[in-house]
Amino acid sequence: MKKVILSLAFVASVLIGCQTNEQNPNENEVTENTSAQKAEKQCFTVEVLEEKLSKNPSLKGNMEAVENFTNDYLSKVKSGEIAGRLVNGKIQIPVVFHVIYRQASENVPLSVLQDQIAALNEDFNMQNPNRGAMPAEFAGVEANVNIDFAIEDVIRVQNKKKRRWSPDDSMKFTSKGGSDVVNPQEFLNIWIVNYMPYQTGQILGYAQFPGGDWSTDGVVLAYRFVGRTQRTASHEVGHWMNLRHIWGDGGCGASDFVADTPDADGPSRGCPSYPTVECGSANMTMNFMDYSDDSCMYMFTQGQKARMDAVFAPGGFRATMAD
Ligand code: ZN
Ligand code: CA
Repeated sequence: MKKVILSLAFVASVLIGCQTNEQNPNENEVTENTSAQKAEKQCFTVEVLEEKLSKNPSLKGNMEAVENFTNDYLSKVKSGEIAGRLVNGKIQIPVVFHVIYRQASENVPLSVLQDQIAALNEDFNMQNPNRGAMPAEFAGVEANVNIDFAIEDVIRVQNKKKRRWSPDDSMKFTSKGGSDVVNPQEFLNIWIVNYMPYQTGQILGYAQFPGGDWSTDGVVLAYRFVGRTQRTASHEVGHWMNLRHIWGDGGCGASDFVADTPDADGPSRGCPSYPTVECGSANMTMNFMDYSDDSCMYMFTQGQKARMDAVFAPGGFRATMAD
C-alpha cells in the first residue's frame, strides 16, 4: 500500500504486461500498467458491505447483533463483571490461503505466504520494526493484540480465463472459478487473486466484517500486496475482526466506534508527518486502519484490541476460533 511498492509493482506489471501482451495480443491490460498504478490505495471493504446491505435485508440486523454484543462485552469488562481476554491468553488463528492464479507469476509461493504470516504476527504482537517512530502521544494506547497466525493449508487453483476479478466474492466459490471457503468458523480464509481493477486504479483487498454470511467470510488480497513488507493483510484482517477505518468512513464526527483513535476528516495518504491535525487533534496516521503508506503504519490501539477481543469472546461471532 505504499508508493514505493506501487512503483515497484508498476515496473513489475509493465514486465508482466509485456509478456502477457506478447502471448495474448488481443488482451488489453494497458489500464493496469499505466494509470492504475498512479491511483491511491483502495480497500473495498466498506463498498462491498454497502452493496451487500442493499441486497440482503437480514445482514443489517446480524451486524447490529454483533455491535450490541460488542458493546455489552466492553461494558462488562469495564465494570469488572467479566475479565476480558487476558484470562484466555493468546489467540491462535489458523489461516487457509486460496491462491487463485492465471499465470505462474501470480501463483504466490509458499515462502511469500510465510512472509505474509510473519508480517501479520509482527503487527498483531507489537513487533512491527517501524514502531520506533511512534509519537509519545500515542505510545500509551498502543496495544499488543496478542493474536498469532499460522498457515493451516494452501489451496491453489489455476483459472486460465480470469485476468481480473471484481469485489463480488466470485473468487470464494469453486463454481465461479474460485475456491470454496474452508471451515470459516475455525479458519481465517484468505483468497489471493491476480488483479482487481477499480475505475482508474485497483483494489488492494477487501474483507468481510463479522456478521456476514459464512460462505463468503474472510479476506481477499491482490497478489502484489502480499508479503513481508506489505500491510494490506493486517488492515483487512483488522476489518475481519470488526475494526472500521480510523476516520469512520466519514468526516470529523464520523466514528470508528473506538474512543482512543482520534477523529480524522478522512483517510491519510503517503507518510504524513506528525502532528497532522484534523478535527482538533493529531491524526493517528500510523494506525493500521488508516490509508497511510505501509512503511508508515505500525499500530493498533487498546480500544481496537477490545473490539477485536469481543469478536472472539464466548458468545462472540468468532468464538469458535478462540476456544
Ligand atoms: Zn479498509
Ligand atoms: Ca475514534
